[in-house]
Amino acid sequence: LDALKTTDPDVYAAIEAEETRQREKLLLIASENFASPAVLAAQGSLMTNKYAEGYPGKRYYGGCQHVDTVESLAIERCKQIFGAEHVNVQPHSGSQANMAAYLSVLKAGDTILGMDLAQGGHLTHGSKVNFSGILFRAFSYGVDRQTETIDYDAVQKLAEECRPRMIVVGASAYARTLDFPRFQAIAKSVGAYLMVDIAHIAGLIAAGLHPNPVPYADFVTTTTHKTLRGPRGGVTMCKAEHAKAVDKFVFPGMQGGPLMHVIAAKAVAFKEALSPPFKRYQQQVVANAKALAHGLMERGYTIVSGGTDTHLMLVNLTNKGLTGKEADAALDAAGIIVNKNAVPYDEKPPAVASGIRLGTPIVSTRGMREPEMKQIVELIDRVLQHRQEPAVLEEVRAQAKALCDRFPIFHSY
Ligand code: PLP
Repeated sequence: LDALKTTDPDVYAAIEAEETRQREKLLLIASENFASPAVLAAQGSLMTNKYAEGYPGKRYYGGCQHVDTVESLAIERCKQIFGAEHVNVQPHSGSQANMAAYLSVLKAGDTILGMDLAQGGHLTHGSKVNFSGILFRAFSYGVDRQTETIDYDAVQKLAEECRPRMIVVGASAYARTLDFPRFQAIAKSVGAYLMVDIAHIAGLIAAGLHPNPVPYADFVTTTTHKTLRGPRGGVTMCKAEHAKAVDKFVFPGMQGGPLMHVIAAKAVAFKEALSPPFKRYQQQVVANAKALAHGLMERGYTIVSGGTDTHLMLVNLTNKGLTGKEADAALDAAGIIVNKNAVPYDEKPPAVASGIRLGTPIVSTRGMREPEMKQIVELIDRVLQHRQEPAVLEEVRAQAKALCDRFPIFHSY
């Protein structure tokens, strides 16, 4: 970073400060992760200099031999991980991966049925403020009030009522295993396409720790930067029959030149995801999430749906007499970074929310295990019980930093 330090000391200082923040704070944001040094090296490479509109072997620019190599590697490795018939690694983000899946077969005004944002779904699954809710007639399903898990009978009923052209499965704040065969049966029964957005759980699927939707879905989309632990970006996978339509909609339909440095980094991340250490890492992610949820429940915290099968959990703080916003702020002051999150059937507005979302991808990347989860539970509980006491927050902040200091930013499993 020496060149940057000389050219732009302001940006250099901000990056240094961000590195310190990532090193010294306990980061429990479920959608984030620390990319490996190899991924960062590829992403920071001079592949960013290359224009490569088109696809490997069929570019609109000369000089694409080497970017063709990395894009082909990314495609082949991604196919190997998920078993998809066709893969497009060019979407710049998860949202664009979804847009590509939708618009390869749907048109404006078509009906889609996705999981409600307020109950764990993602903005791009039909929210009114997102392109998916603006372009399409969007209906949403949610979770059962009692079990706080997806009510598949209700999804079937809703699908029969609204007759969607596409059913969208996947979530940003849902901690339970998804039943893909059941979703496929529902989609089939109403003649809808099935799209599964595995952004959050892609790493778990790659490691065989969550069922893989690829055999059941017409389209599978993902981000590459969450549990999958690659660079920030998206991927759209599909059955062979939709390959042409997806590729055509990604480019020239939706994007111009692909981000070749990011695609190089995706190739590296996919290679890592095919390795035994990655599987051990993902096993630890899940074990840590279970330990965290268990520890919190032992201290009287309510975990939505009573636990987790994945890397994340939602904590409903209603019985503790505080809001998600208050908890988020107090934890932040104590060096523990989470996000406030609505819980199912939340009566509070999203900017306040009744819960927080916690995830273990980052702490597991650092090599923390069950004993450290126990410690994190103690720290969280201390902060939430004493959130009005600055001295306690300061003490926990030092403890959180001491815990982080014991673990490198990237542990080899
Ligand atoms: N899909 C799901 C389920 C997500 O959780 C997210 C991001 O949080 C996305 C898609 C969008 O990804 P991006 O932020 O890269 O557009």
